[in-house]
Amino acid sequence: MESEKIRCLIIGSGPAGYTAAIYASRANLNPVVYEGMQPGGQLTTTTEIDNFPGYPTGVSGNDLMEDLKKQAERFGTTVRYGTVTKVDFSRRPFKVIIDGEKEILADTVIIATGASAKYLGLPSEEKFRGAGVSACATCDGFFYRKKDVAVVGGGDTACEEATYLAGLCNKVYLIVRRDVLRASKAMQQRVANTPNIEILWNTNTREILGDEYGVTGAALVNNKSGEEFEIKIHGFFLAIGHHPNSEVFSEFVETDEQGYIVTSGKSQMTSVKGVFAAGDVQDPVYRQAIAAAGSGCRAAMDAEKFLQEN
Ligand code: NDP
Repeated sequence: MESEKIRCLIIGSGPAGYTAAIYASRANLNPVVYEGMQPGGQLTTTTEIDNFPGYPTGVSGNDLMEDLKKQAERFGTTVRYGTVTKVDFSRRPFKVIIDGEKEILADTVIIATGASAKYLGLPSEEKFRGAGVSACATCDGFFYRKKDVAVVGGGDTACEEATYLAGLCNKVYLIVRRDVLRASKAMQQRVANTPNIEILWNTNTREILGDEYGVTGAALVNNKSGEEFEIKIHGFFLAIGHHPNSEVFSEFVETDEQGYIVTSGKSQMTSVKGVFAAGDVQDPVYRQAIAAAGSGCRAAMDAEKFLQEN
């Protein structure tokens, strides 16, 4: 198997990975970024981004990621296609296998593999993804101004997204599979105090309905009574949780019960010295591009310090 020795390997190409690459390349660590299965990360699945500082008139997710990539390359970062399929972090240099066919021996590793939104798994959900089906209200809610939409889920994210959308949309259905919300009391109260949110309790989604222009409705079922009914909506938002993309590392790196990589104190250091984590793979709370970018900066600075000391 082909083998290559590098000083700083960055796994993942979202805002965390590229910000780490900008800092690591400026520190002469000659970083190599492996882009992973979704080059550019989750932002490339959204349209306009209005909350990333520095873009007063907004920026498309793809343009932002392209800019971050160019900025990293400008300072000497090598960016490659490829996905990590196996790692051995039991000794240094760390061994990382790319696509089962190439071995990297890395002095430091920055894991920035992000998280993926969970979907219900319906074929119609796949069909209308990006055409009415979204897993990010703050990214895409704007497109449904004054329209009716639905949010699926009963946790804090679902309640937060529903109240956010209620400020933009005509009406928001909150589709909850049980007769209680999992969300915190404060969040439940916010939902209860928002008149244009209607909670559909004990309800499951059978199918998302639509035409060539996108989503037009959802076919639902009350899982207590068995009653089937439809709602007319233009946007269908998933808020049933995310899963961090940490599986391939979890044999070596400590993760919490949800699979998020645990970092130490204010640093981005994982339980393995010389392996750092940044972005959504280690952040169950904020999950924002700018927060991911910030942690990518810290991870690169931590890696630089580690290399100086070791
Ligand atoms: P959670 O795991 O807390 O909630 C997921 C919700 O989705 C649950 O209500 C669950 O239902 C529902 N669900 C899961 N699978 C399905 C399915 N297949 N069909 C229908 N419904 C489904 O995830 P969140 O993203 O809401 O929150 C993650 C963490 O982040 C939590 O710790 C939360 O507190 C935190 N958070 C905090 C915020 C804040 O404080 N401002 C904001 C956002 C998140 P059920 O209840 O029946 O299991």
